[in-house]
Amino acid sequence: MKIAIISDIHSNLEALKKVLEFYQSKKADSLFFLGDLVGYGPSPCEACDLMKKYIHNSVMGNHDYAVSYENNSVLDTFNLSAREMVLWTRNKLNEKSPEYLEILRDLPLLRETENLTFVHSTPYRPQEWNYIFNIRQAYYMFYEFKTQICFVGHSHQPYILEKNPADELTLIDSNSVTIKKDHRYIINIGSVGQPRDLDNRACIAFLDISSGSGRYELYRLDYDIKKTQHKMRERNLPKYLIDRLKEGK
Ligand code: ZN
Repeated sequence: MKIAIISDIHSNLEALKKVLEFYQSKKADSLFFLGDLVGYGPSPCEACDLMKKYIHNSVMGNHDYAVSYENNSVLDTFNLSAREMVLWTRNKLNEKSPEYLEILRDLPLLRETENLTFVHSTPYRPQEWNYIFNIRQAYYMFYEFKTQICFVGHSHQPYILEKNPADELTLIDSNSVTIKKDHRYIINIGSVGQPRDLDNRACIAFLDISSGSGRYELYRLDYDIKKTQHKMRERNLPKYLIDRLKEGK
């Protein structure tokens, strides 16, 4: 089975189109999306349209939640420009069709297949939108999902954590790893529309696996950042959000 996984699109149409094209060229069996379709970026309606058409295995991100549920406390955890963009995005979607907000509201918090878990934040209480910041937190997270691999997004920073049968954890400093049958993994697949690891290229990950063994690989794709930034300027979006796309942070 070969699948592709993407996360944190954040209304960035140019980056999303690029990863979808790449996905189609690689001929995988299915595409999973780890949430945060909207927020930060200039094209929320177009991103929703593409998700509806091409992405059928999605989970909810904290920005999707904040945009689609009014009067929620999660907004208090957002910085000023993120909060501004939640309100801007909600208006834009509502203006075009309230159905867009329903699509976001209907996303599940977690998906599980026989061997894989997909969640935006953490497998433990995903609705609390916590991050996995260090190895110690990650160690406990391995007890919170049953499958061999758990894919997460949320921090926009890719990493691979491997746990061996002796319960030892290793942070693998690479974009790829050979998946071993008796090992377990937490893998952050980075972000499509707003990478924050000082590499401004969009992320798309592939997993080729059969009976617990296989190969995981993260790809980075150049996209037309200037075009996205131009749209953001036209729509008067915060300068800080425009600059960070180029910087990749
Ligand atoms: Zn995000």
